Amino acid sequence: MLEIYTWSVLITGIFFTSFGAFAYVKNSRDVSTKYFALLSAAFAVWSYAWFLLLASKDAVTALSFSKILAFGATFIPIFYLSWVLSVLEIKEKRKHLIFFGYVITFIFALLSLTDFYIPGVRPILFFPFWPVAGSGFTAFIVFGYIGLVLYALIELIRGFLHHTGDKKYQIGYLILGSFLGFGGGAVNFPLMYGYDAVQPFGLFAVMASPFVFSYAAIKYKLLDIKVVATQFLAGALNVIFIISLILSKTATQYFFNTLLLGFVLVFTILLLRGIKREIEQREKIEELAKNLEKTNRDLEGANVRLQELDQLKSEFVSLATHQIRGPLTAIKGYASLLIEGDYGKISAPVKEAVNTIMHSAQSLVVVVGDFLDVSRIEQGRMKYDLKVFDLKGLVHEVVSELKPNLDRAGLGLTVTIDESLEYSIDADRVKIKQVIANIFDNSIKYTPKGSIAIALTKASGKILFSIKDTGIGIPKDTIPKLFAKFSRAKDANETNIIGTGLGLYLAKELIKGHNGRVWAESEGQGKGSQFYIELNEAEG
Ligand code: ADP
Repeated sequence: MLEIYTWSVLITGIFFTSFGAFAYVKNSRDVSTKYFALLSAAFAVWSYAWFLLLASKDAVTALSFSKILAFGATFIPIFYLSWVLSVLEIKEKRKHLIFFGYVITFIFALLSLTDFYIPGVRPILFFPFWPVAGSGFTAFIVFGYIGLVLYALIELIRGFLHHTGDKKYQIGYLILGSFLGFGGGAVNFPLMYGYDAVQPFGLFAVMASPFVFSYAAIKYKLLDIKVVATQFLAGALNVIFIISLILSKTATQYFFNTLLLGFVLVFTILLLRGIKREIEQREKIEELAKNLEKTNRDLEGANVRLQELDQLKSEFVSLATHQIRGPLTAIKGYASLLIEGDYGKISAPVKEAVNTIMHSAQSLVVVVGDFLDVSRIEQGRMKYDLKVFDLKGLVHEVVSELKPNLDRAGLGLTVTIDESLEYSIDADRVKIKQVIANIFDNSIKYTPKGSIAIALTKASGKILFSIKDTGIGIPKDTIPKLFAKFSRAKDANETNIIGTGLGLYLAKELIKGHNGRVWAESEGQGKGSQFYIELNEAEG
């Protein structure tokens, strides 16, 4: 029994050493892992000293190892508390308490080497030597285990109730490990007071605690724990074969044991290499996933901000344009009164100047109207007054209204419409007129010479309005961007200075609001353009 117990204590020490070291190497950037490593080191000192105590042949040796055991045990509570507070991210807030804890711990650590702590050893149960608790040790139990550890546990439970998600799990594992480690370890105390009714098998709970603790420390990377376990087993296998090699008695035994050890060594190396590669790959993937997540979060944040800004801008545009409308109407009104002679006769040059003022004001009214439409569309406030009407009437109307512009530009015009047919659509007449007028006006503006051809056709429930010009044309790569807000082709400024780049955007949105389509085609720069509007024919 003693033998099994002694070896189990050694294994516990090895567990603490390897898990502590592994967690530290794996996650050294994380401060809390450092405290876990320190805690593991204290537990390891405690375990190794205990192992040597159990293996001692005389009372004097046993007593010295008991003192080292007590020395290691003294640091367990404070390292544990530091780790817990660090995981809970409240270490800064409790820094006075921690400082106080360290001071007292160092005093106890010095005491632990005196007889005040462990005055001697005595046989109990199946142990030939077991440390006897002195009053110093009792004081330490009260301060360290009842004070620090219990306090840490209370903070942990509070943290567990307060946190959610991954953190909650981490804290949960920490609590479980604490019960195993401290609950199991506390079973030793009664024996130190000569009370042997409690069996010291809490050791096996302590043995399991590094697994649970390190799971909490390296943030539940289960595979990593599997890796440590594999490495540990491979190491143990090697130790066993080395021992059996040493214990070999005959030449044949030597031969086979050497051969076996060779195999095991090769196997171990291959295994470790494979594991290393897997870890590296996994880390790379994790890194990528993390980056991706971060980029996504950034994008989402930017998107939300953009949407808010857009909303703000729409509201601003709507407010500003409403305010501009009034003064514009006044300018137009007074200009027209001046021209008509309501304020007395004016000379021809003044009349011309006032005329220019009126036309400019009129252009501004259109621009302001466009801005208002855009903000209405963006705020989802655009309303359509739907009525069934014949599109050919509307096309003729637009043509006659823009005829003066066309003549001024010296362009030819052909209109191809079958007058015997009806081109009924169920639409908002004002909006459709606005779109057609805009596209027609564009063709005039962007055609320095030549002619414009307008056509209206219908087929299988669709009505198609098309307009073809011999103008500046549109580069192929610009066509897809043409209908975007504020989009103007590179050379648009040269041909037509006044322009907002909103006309086609509005055309697209308004036609979309009618479940129709609008698109452009062009063979390229200098080769003219064609614009199409397709609408559904009204039923019945
Ligand atoms: P604006 O005419 O105010 O610039 P639009 O949205 O009406 O804005 O048109 C966007 C751009 O599309 C124009 O700036 C011009 O580059 C191009 N475009 C429109 N119609 C034509 C056309 N008929 N021929 C060549 N380019 C055109």
